[in-house]
Amino acid sequence: MAELKADVLVLGAGMVGVSAALHLQEDGRDVILVDRHEVAGEETSYGNAGVIECASVFPYMFPRDFKQILQYALNRSPQVRYRISDLPDFLPWILRYYLASSPARAMHSAMAVLPLIRQSLAEHEALIAEAGAGELLQRCGWLKLHRSEASLAKAAAEAARARQYGVVSEILDAKQIARREPHLTGDFVGAIHFPTPGFVSDPGALAKAYAALFKRKGGRFAVADARTLVQETGGWSVGEPGNRATAREVVVALGPWSDLVFRPLGYSIPLGIKRGYHLHLKPRGNAVLNHPVLDSDLGYLIAPMNQGIRLCTGAEFARRDAPARPRQLELALPRAHKLFPLGEAIEAKPWMGARPCLPDMLPVIGQAPRHPGLWFDFGHQHHGLTLGPVTGRLLAEMMTGKTPFADPRPFAAERFG
Ligand SMILES: Cc1cc2nc3c(=O)[nH]c(=O)nc-3n(C[C@H](O)[C@H](O)[C@H](O)COP(=O)(O)OP(=O)(O)OC[C@H]3O[C@@H](n4cnc5c(N)ncnc54)[C@H](O)[C@@H]3O)c2cc1C
Repeated sequence: MAELKADVLVLGAGMVGVSAALHLQEDGRDVILVDRHEVAGEETSYGNAGVIECASVFPYMFPRDFKQILQYALNRSPQVRYRISDLPDFLPWILRYYLASSPARAMHSAMAVLPLIRQSLAEHEALIAEAGAGELLQRCGWLKLHRSEASLAKAAAEAARARQYGVVSEILDAKQIARREPHLTGDFVGAIHFPTPGFVSDPGALAKAYAALFKRKGGRFAVADARTLVQETGGWSVGEPGNRATAREVVVALGPWSDLVFRPLGYSIPLGIKRGYHLHLKPRGNAVLNHPVLDSDLGYLIAPMNQGIRLCTGAEFARRDAPARPRQLELALPRAHKLFPLGEAIEAKPWMGARPCLPDMLPVIGQAPRHPGLWFDFGHQHHGLTLGPVTGRLLAEMMTGKTPFADPRPFAAERFG
């Protein structure tokens, strides 16, 4: 990379970093996007379920229902599992997550992120049009299947609550499900269809299409280890002597690895992770899946990706770098085979990634409290594909002195003291 100079370095070329780079570029900044990989979208932004979740106005908070907590604690829930040996590492974080999930605080988080969620699909659509990546977006929404009257009734009540905030949904009976998804089989009593969210049939390719657009518009990409970041007179640099990128400002958009940069700088932001797995399988015969489908009571999701049917798991609490243990995937596989005609697995080994989460399920966006020129844009939890472009816009507006389109204060790092 030799010696490069720019206005801004964006560390991390996942959906969040690439989107921030594009918005900063749009606002007239010369930007260098930095990643340890040679191309964008190789990590968490590759492996997600592909849903641009503009219907998800209530973030995934820690449950308050005793029966559900007990099920999680016994490590028997397919939706959530944990590695007992890692418990001492993540228990303090879980406690903070629990405290941040009181009804009042959960509502605060929901209302803080609502303007971003509402704008999320429109921001993607604008970038997708500019990037010429229209074939990657489907406007099919997604289906949430329920196998008991009780769980359907609970979901219907949640959908009714979300309707107050403009979320469109339709309750389907078994016949209506069969019309929309003729190849599903199972003893479900009904489903909720959220028709508005977008579905991206290859989220890694979308991040790459955005990175290609960034380069076409004059942006530069550099391969370097973000842990080499140092503050210098008048700016920041990454890389080694003779192979460095320097800029006045720097954005930390390293997703689940963001702590590797903010911690050495003295910030104790409680970034936790929820790991997740996926595996692609071939559909059998002429079977077609038309939407991402969450088998809600059994805790997994299948989505019709370009690579095959992507089977995604719920959350696993473990150290980020602990070896993979895809027990949830093993549990989900026979269930998914009963739900949809699945053939052989496409990969030998499942993919594993980590959702970067703060206890209040809000990202950290804004200026670092004690370092001029240092900005944060990480912690997009279950919704980093959804929120990447819209938080990129918010960050760029803050960095360039524009009036932010939404109140950025709930996302400030200062909320953690
Ligand atoms: C199973 C699963 C399903 C999901 N489903 C959805 C969904 O349907 N919809 C949705 O909106 N979200 C979903 N998510 C969440 C979403 O994928 C994440 O929130 C999002 O990808 C985070 O993006 P990011 O850019 O912050 O992180 P990443 O995509 O992980 O990007 C971080 C980048 O930092 C780079 N990096 C790391 N360390 C260094 C270093 N030392 N030096 C240089 N570069 C470095 C990495 O190479 C990577 O490119 C899901 C997540 C999982 C795990």
